[in-house]
Amino acid sequence: MKIHEYQARELLSGAGIPVPAGQMISSVEEAAATYKAVTSPGSPLAVVKAQVHAGGRGKAGFVKLVKSAAEAEDAARFMLTHRMHSPQTPPEGLEVRKLLIAAGVDIMPRAGGAKGAGEEFYLAVTLDRANRRPVLIASREGGVEIEKIAHERPEAIIKAPLHPVAGLEPHQGREVACRLGFKGKHILAAADVMSRLAKLYLARDCSLAEINPLVITNPTTEHPDGRVMAIDAKFNFDDNALFRHKDLQAMFDPTEENPGELRAQRFGLSYIALDGNIGCLVNGAGLAMATMDIVKLHGGSPANFLDVGGSASEEAVTEAFSIILSDPRVKGVMVNIFGGIMRCDVIAQGVVNAARKHKNTDGSTGFRVPLVVRLEGTNVESGRDLLRRAAADLPTLQPATDLADAAVKVCRAVG
Ligand code: GDP
Ligand code: MN
Repeated sequence: MKIHEYQARELLSGAGIPVPAGQMISSVEEAAATYKAVTSPGSPLAVVKAQVHAGGRGKAGFVKLVKSAAEAEDAARFMLTHRMHSPQTPPEGLEVRKLLIAAGVDIMPRAGGAKGAGEEFYLAVTLDRANRRPVLIASREGGVEIEKIAHERPEAIIKAPLHPVAGLEPHQGREVACRLGFKGKHILAAADVMSRLAKLYLARDCSLAEINPLVITNPTTEHPDGRVMAIDAKFNFDDNALFRHKDLQAMFDPTEENPGELRAQRFGLSYIALDGNIGCLVNGAGLAMATMDIVKLHGGSPANFLDVGGSASEEAVTEAFSIILSDPRVKGVMVNIFGGIMRCDVIAQGVVNAARKHKNTDGSTGFRVPLVVRLEGTNVESGRDLLRRAAADLPTLQPATDLADAAVKVCRAVG
């Protein structure tokens, strides 16, 4: 599960990591008052940020520094009325429904570095599968180019593994802070952020806890040494551990999820939307993978991953069809069932019911898209028989003898 940045900031600040004051808004009307609440006449800088479950907002123009209530309102109006496009969004972009308005910070430039640009650090804790333990990842070259840096110059990324029992040890944090170039009092401040982030990662069963960027603010009268602060954060949580974090469950934002995936969850189906045009309905995750592979092998492109599970009911199968067909990209459907616990006749009845229930835009029922069905295993004969008897409801049906035959037929059918 993912959460928004404004929620991530609450978690950081609750864990004792310094974060600038901020508030979430969902309408243009709230912008001016919120701007005034998070700034003061002596420090008018604020930042307006789109709250969506995708990164790359800065480059997309959805993170804006503002210096007045009027500018805050303009930025809010722009973001709430335009879809955001970044390398991390779907091609059609994302609708922005929420914004964060936060106090802006003056970022300290790198010592001896170019004037103007502030120094931004990257900090994250995630799972290192190869080493079978969480790892702290840090870089002196954080900010909006981190993906590029990680790809082109992996040596600019520092890694420190967490001890399975002790977690991130204080000396590791100090060492990483020194290697990142922190000086004087900032070394302990940065090491403290790392240690709190690592504890948060473990305590909340995260799969990612990321701060990008971590910055040192320019000195002010209140903080003459400047402060080490997090000005952007991202958290992903392990869904299998969410049952023990009621407060995190409450942060779930359904409007950010794919509607098909949400419906599928309610029926116990594992569904992941993809960008191809062949809908796949399969039982078993392994078979679903193999089906997608073989569709690709024959030149097709799957529109989704869908595992109806080992014991799906007729209703779940009907629902699965309805989810697949609600995706306008779907130009053909391939059903691939190996009946074990799952009985082929249950699936076949589900297919027939779905066809009878399916409404086309002109009010008629039945599937218009080509449908290729491969059934094998428990009760396969009665399953095939059911489909034959319902031929009138399934004019586009092509039975297939095996997996390869099904893939060839569905790829040919969608062109
Ligand atoms: P992202 O592009 O989605 O990762 O959004 P970020 O919140 O990280 O913002 C992008 C960039 O905007 C940061 O890397 C900073 O360079 C800049 N930025 C964000 N907030 C502030 C701020 O309060 N002060 C200053 N000076 N720059 C900021
Ligand atoms: Mn960022």
